[in-house]
Amino acid sequence: MYSYSKNTAQVVVVSNRGAYTFQEGHDQVIPRRTVGGLVAAVEPVLTAHGGTWISWCGRLDHSKEQGVKLGIPPGEPRYQIQEVFLTPEEHDHYYHGFCNAILWPLCHQLPERCSFEKAYWEAYRRVNQKFARITLEAKKEIYWIHDFHLALVPQLLRQQSPGAAIAFFWHIPFPPADLFQILPWGRQIIYGLLGSDLIAFHTSRYVENFLDTMSCYYPARIYPEQGLIRFRNRKILVQALPVGINYHRFEQLATDPAVRARAAEIRKSLGAEKVLLGIDRMDYTKGIPERIRAMACFLEKYPEYRGRVTLLQIAVPSRNGIGEYGILKQEVERIVGEVNGRYDQMYGAVPVRYRYQSLDQAELVAHYLAADVLLVTALRDGLNLVAKEFVASRIDGKGVLILSPFAGAAQELHGALLANPFEPAHLAAKIKMALEMSFQEQKSRLESLRRTVKSRDVRWWWQTNLKLVKSLGSGISPAAINAANL
Ligand code: UDP
Repeated sequence: MYSYSKNTAQVVVVSNRGAYTFQEGHDQVIPRRTVGGLVAAVEPVLTAHGGTWISWCGRLDHSKEQGVKLGIPPGEPRYQIQEVFLTPEEHDHYYHGFCNAILWPLCHQLPERCSFEKAYWEAYRRVNQKFARITLEAKKEIYWIHDFHLALVPQLLRQQSPGAAIAFFWHIPFPPADLFQILPWGRQIIYGLLGSDLIAFHTSRYVENFLDTMSCYYPARIYPEQGLIRFRNRKILVQALPVGINYHRFEQLATDPAVRARAAEIRKSLGAEKVLLGIDRMDYTKGIPERIRAMACFLEKYPEYRGRVTLLQIAVPSRNGIGEYGILKQEVERIVGEVNGRYDQMYGAVPVRYRYQSLDQAELVAHYLAADVLLVTALRDGLNLVAKEFVASRIDGKGVLILSPFAGAAQELHGALLANPFEPAHLAAKIKMALEMSFQEQKSRLESLRRTVKSRDVRWWWQTNLKLVKSLGSGISPAAINAANL
């Protein structure tokens, strides 16, 4: 738990989803925790310093914009949640439509999955205006807006509150300019973001893509070395600040005897000599079918491993109401059946074990510890926190991370084995290499990975974001902030 300080600036965090959804109870709402990368990264700053989180909590309402304001966690409140209502039409056109059927696939470089409907754009604008109205009422010192759902909010806030400190974090990939410009409303999205003082991404490649795209729409002076642009007499920082994890928490859980006992139990229940692990939301960007096909290719090419190795795939339910996610689930289940039907030896390890469920943190760490190899085979991923959590949990110096070069984390995690998920034979060869890697090599790769993950943990991430946005107001240069080694 990070220390609580009343002297720090109060932040209002704004995101589509927050750390809780609300369910109708008998005479009050019942908050339920959500899981995901954004929540893990953002909640610690509010828990440490207080503030307000403005988010849609899953409830739909025609008649009102705002729902309840609740102290969180219940019983021992550290910050407030201000609930935003969506109408059923906004839920369809803004959330399912513009966010999940346009921006998500486009930014993951899958334009063939986009449906460019004007009604989706109109709903997106309306919902962004609604979030901006509610945010302005919160009147805090720093506005911290998150992700592609709310790209118009910074400019809407700037228009009403010219002196506000506004930071924006874009959590998904930012695609190359040629691709982004397919979006008929691309100019408006970029203009919306340019209302911020700080626009941050996970990697320097996304920063470059953003700057290229911006230059296609607007003239601005760019100072790439400082990560600074001048746009209409305002200075805007554009920075690569990859999200970190709560490193100590994962390390702590990995030493917990109950978690270690659970890891041994998982391992035993699998009955395999070697365990490969995949943990992802069920999403077409994560490369789950590709991973299972690579497992088939591995067992075909290296039959000596049949009956000895299991791939344990945990797929976390995600975006259940959306048709293509249901289709993906069916496809994954069909491929699991096919691969098991073909390569199961009737004795020893089952080729693929598949579970469709979400794990809590202790259970996650037990799974990380039970595995020999973590497979992150995303076709495209903003970062991938699971990779960092695996590294932080492996205090024993054992374990190999196989990482897709198309996950943002590959730009940071240099000790991983990189493998192209689009090429099953290549991935199969990397699986073999990982399984046969000496303990010395595993240990030295993990040591280097652990140093990186530890030095840029979640505290480093939010402190750097907030200090950078404040530096613009105070005139401190970003270089000085970075040199201060926050
Ligand atoms: N996670 C979890 N339970 C699970 C699987 C994942 O709590 O069963 C968390 C995990 O700890 C990580 C986040 O969900 O912090 C997933 O983040 P990542 O960047 O890997 O992928 P995203 O889902 O954000 O695309």
